[in-house]
Amino acid sequence: MAGAGWAPPRLDEFILTERLGSGTYATVYKAYRKRDTREVVAIKCVNKRSLNRTSVENLLTEIEILKTIRHPNIVELKDFQWDSDHIYLIMEFCAGGDLSRFIRMRRLLPEKVARIFLQQLACALKFLHDHNISHLDLKPQNILLSAPENPQLKLADFGFAQYMSPWDEQHVLRGSPLYMAPEMVCRQQYDARVDLWSVGVILYEALFGKPPFASRSFAELEEKIRSERAVETNLVVEAVRKDQEGDANAALSLYCKALEYFVPALHYESDARRKEAIRAKVGQYISRAEELKVLVTSSNKNLLEKGNPARELLKEMAKDKPRLCTALEVASAAIAKEEEGRDDSDALELYQQSLGELLLLLAAEPAGRRRELLHVEIQTLMARAEYLKDQIKMREAQSMGKEALAESVRSTCTLQ
Ligand code: ADP
Ligand code: MG
Repeated sequence: MAGAGWAPPRLDEFILTERLGSGTYATVYKAYRKRDTREVVAIKCVNKRSLNRTSVENLLTEIEILKTIRHPNIVELKDFQWDSDHIYLIMEFCAGGDLSRFIRMRRLLPEKVARIFLQQLACALKFLHDHNISHLDLKPQNILLSAPENPQLKLADFGFAQYMSPWDEQHVLRGSPLYMAPEMVCRQQYDARVDLWSVGVILYEALFGKPPFASRSFAELEEKIRSERAVETNLVVEAVRKDQEGDANAALSLYCKALEYFVPALHYESDARRKEAIRAKVGQYISRAEELKVLVTSSNKNLLEKGNPARELLKEMAKDKPRLCTALEVASAAIAKEEEGRDDSDALELYQQSLGELLLLLAAEPAGRRRELLHVEIQTLMARAEYLKDQIKMREAQSMGKEALAESVRSTCTLQ
């Protein structure tokens, strides 16, 4: 591998600093331009001696492509240089690192974030597609983030990319097997659509924290991709475990989360046999979730029915503070609404309203007994609001599950 572990190479116009990463044939450093602006860049250094013919070709492809295209979601090539030992690609610096590290640090990404990333990735791919370019090595390590906060995705590492003409069928094996479309592995003949397979794998990894066909060997990977088994989500495995441990609350919420994933799967599955298998599972999860709900609700009622002497005391101590008084009244109204049990979203609204105000008041409250009580009260209210939110979500997931089940039964009946 070029330059890994070595002192950074020297370049007249730049000061090279930390190593940002290294991949198949290059090491990338963070660098500053010496003159005026001290502009920050990333420099991809390739040691010429490590280059065989394919690597030279890969590098030339990368330079060729990056030089001609400009897109907000594709890393910009600012310049390139060479000396007797190295070739340098001077690129826009992406301070958020690569997507692989980004996912690993957070374990997995919330759907909202994954959705935005997917949109940006799609934008970059659409642009490439319009220019007849396929990336061919899409994986989280080759997707960079502009900044640690509110990052923009930037597609990078076009070493494998090539211009694809529709009639060009003579391709060689490229890319990383975990993210690689099966036709790339098996038939060694493929087209621009292989990038879409990789996008699916990347999206899965973003949502679940590991790629769907994570494997230790090539044989295992091939077996997993070829098999008819549905990709199991960790959620169900976790739900069953929590259920066995007797943690009904956690199990219930995990089953409901799992249902959120299985319902669309049931809807979109076109293979009759697999649809039947998913339907059986959905049915099973719904009925277990229902049993758990009965358990959880009764134990929760007991908890809620215990009075709260601290709350009464706090109300006493709030007498000279009209804002605090009002906020506590709103909180009481929320609790009453919740106990009435008719309109949970109204109750949730009231909880949120009172919590917003109480948190502000807490920030201004001097140390002392009242502050302590206020703190405890806020925590209790937050827990109740969280619980209520979960309840609302679960109910939605369950009714969605039932509807989907009914719908899929109906559609099968009409087919037969
Ligand atoms: P290779 O072709 O050797 O795989 P890459 O271009 O994929 O090289 O770069 C290797 C790693 O270096 C990336 O996975 C990423 O972590 C880091 N890196 C590359 N380019 C940049 C950049 N412009 N800004 C920040 N980090 C980068
Ligand atoms: Mg790479």
